[in-house]
Amino acid sequence: MREQLFIDGKWVSPAKGGTFVVIDPATEEVVHHAPAGTAEDIDAAVQAARRAFDKGPWPKMSGRERAAVLRHISDIILARKHDLARLEVIDNGKPMPEAVWDMEDTAGCFAFYAGLAEELDDKPEETIALSEPRFSSKVVREPIGVAGAIIPWNYPLLMASWKVAPALAAGCTLVLKPSELTPLTALELGAIVTEAGLPAGVLNIVTGLGPEAGQPLSEHSGVDKLAFTGSVPTGAKIMAAAARDIKNVSLELGGKSPFVVFADSDIEKAVEWILFGIFWNQGQVCSATSRVLVEESLYPTLLERLVAEAAKIRIGNGLDEGTLLGPLVSKGQYDKVLAAIERGKAEGATVAGGGERPAGLDTGYFLEPTILTDMAEDSFVWKEEIFGPVVCVKPFKDEADAIRMANDSRFGLAAAVMSKDKARCERVARAFRAGIVWINCSQPTFTEAPWGGYKQSGIGRELGRWGLSNYLEVKQITSFNSDEPWGWYIKPA
Ligand code: NAD
Repeated sequence: MREQLFIDGKWVSPAKGGTFVVIDPATEEVVHHAPAGTAEDIDAAVQAARRAFDKGPWPKMSGRERAAVLRHISDIILARKHDLARLEVIDNGKPMPEAVWDMEDTAGCFAFYAGLAEELDDKPEETIALSEPRFSSKVVREPIGVAGAIIPWNYPLLMASWKVAPALAAGCTLVLKPSELTPLTALELGAIVTEAGLPAGVLNIVTGLGPEAGQPLSEHSGVDKLAFTGSVPTGAKIMAAAARDIKNVSLELGGKSPFVVFADSDIEKAVEWILFGIFWNQGQVCSATSRVLVEESLYPTLLERLVAEAAKIRIGNGLDEGTLLGPLVSKGQYDKVLAAIERGKAEGATVAGGGERPAGLDTGYFLEPTILTDMAEDSFVWKEEIFGPVVCVKPFKDEADAIRMANDSRFGLAAAVMSKDKARCERVARAFRAGIVWINCSQPTFTEAPWGGYKQSGIGRELGRWGLSNYLEVKQITSFNSDEPWGWYIKPA
């Protein structure tokens, strides 16, 4: 576990010498004292990234040269996936198989953007057809500059890769600020990029608290682009900071995503995908389908099966064989989720399953998979993101009713629909006001496809070619090709 920040290719102690504790959420033990960066360290990191962008080789290298480094990073992550996954479990609490899958996805993300970096070489410019024959125009895409990447704790290294990989592929340099709840694997990335041959200063990693390290990064005038993933209130602060000097900004924020299940669905498949949609990663997933809408005639049977299957989910330390639900990430998050359940009950919801600390697990931030029913449409638990293993289930009358309820949210990140009727699935998919829609499943996420939300779930898209565009400026180069004078002020004799 690293004790220093990674700035300008070197491991350095924070300017003020501060640390913050890293707690294993399964044992509540302090496992590390991580370096707490502050404005001074952010400034040093931004200056290093600035030098690397303005004077260094990285932005000028060909896409193929950058791709070679990205592939090397991908290979190192794959080779180290078990030890990195172990760090992730200790830091975040997630079950080991999920953490290993995250590492494979992280490696896959670097490999995917290596491919897109190569494509930049294959298509260096695009000719634009103009309506004026005396002119010609082409478009080139160039790296946007220094990026500031601020990320959350739910998929620590994977969320880093969604920003670092496309930014590097584009030729940007960056400063990464991981969450203070999960700094371990992000710091490890410093060692990985060094081994992969990334030039000094291209990636800088400053761990620290949000207001002490995140805020100065968002406000720094040397940053050209801010890429943020996290909660809506912090996203609003980032956007306000970006507004001061008109930084380019992309935001991936929260959600309260609906899963609409029609009565013709296979009940076992519905139960499996509902469970996967909310209990994966302890429900700490921005796109979690935390509002399940079930057609009235199926509702009683489906609820019974759901409660029975949820009760069988093995809860425990993520490092233990067979664990499918680990602890929540922190005491703060645990208390927030418990308070939401209490508020739900006070507002009239029924706890159909779970809702308690599991028997025999007295230490650690463990919570049973929780199923709430009978809540009002305007209640807190139905409207607000809980970000824990808590699902709200409600019946609906018909397709129109389901679509109305699904879209009645200030969020619009994801949505899912299940039915054997393909035409209906397609219709409902189009009717959802959300950036990510799943048909007959919930959550599978592919590096190739765009990720992001409508409404308060964010601005812009990550992943796929959209993720690369976040880090590229578009420049038009227009030529006047005629030998004739322009003749506006100086009239031809
Ligand atoms: P958060 O907003 O509390 O923190 C996110 C990051 O912002 C952390 O690194 C934090 O240190 C930093 N931060 C805090 N205050 C800051 C400030 N004033 N200025 C700059 N940076 C600051 O969110 P979280 O609790 O870490 O993550 C959970 C949230 O993230 C949920 O709402 C979830 O839905 C969302 N999320 C969204 C996606 C997505 O792709 N849409 C993915 C994962 C998580």
